[in-house]
Amino acid sequence: MRDGQKPRFAVVACSDSRVDPAIVLQTEPGDIFAVRNVAALVPPYEEAGAYHGTSAALEFAIDGLRVEHVIIIGHAACGGVQAMVHNHGPGEPTGGMFITAWTDLLRKARERALAVDSTLEGDDLVEASERQAVTLSLENLDTFPFIRKAVAENRISVHGWYLNIFNGTLELWNPETQAFEPHGND
Ligand SMILES: [Zn+2]
Repeated sequence: MRDGQKPRFAVVACSDSRVDPAIVLQTEPGDIFAVRNVAALVPPYEEAGAYHGTSAALEFAIDGLRVEHVIIIGHAACGGVQAMVHNHGPGEPTGGMFITAWTDLLRKARERALAVDSTLEGDDLVEASERQAVTLSLENLDTFPFIRKAVAENRISVHGWYLNIFNGTLELWNPETQAFEPHGND
């Protein structure tokens, strides 16, 4: 490790203290380049604005470190998703100005969850929104030119996971079935 890092995985995980990418992946120090933010979100590619922390980290991981996998890890009982789903209607602020702008990304996830099942409410709506947030982030990954290029060149593969923090089980997004499926090795 003296010669620098050579991680194989770039992980976007929630800042939540109960989510630890190294434990989820059962890896050693040096294996994971971790990006953590509120609700494990990948924002869409934007050229305007200057300070894109998550986008900069992904750019470095993919073009600089040449990771092989990009993994989004959403999780159960996510405080960011709960706060948005439970407390606020469309257009209402979610908290301070930074949280409100950031969780705007989650509103879309909530809308999509309701588009699939308009009767969802409470914890069920939170859980469905958490999963939709993962697939939304996967779609947003695809808006970055350097990620599209790396995928087209088979240099990286992208994955969407949903972690149940209470029993440690993982569900993996299957793009072919368009569904989360239980991880077989648990
Ligand atoms: Zn969270």
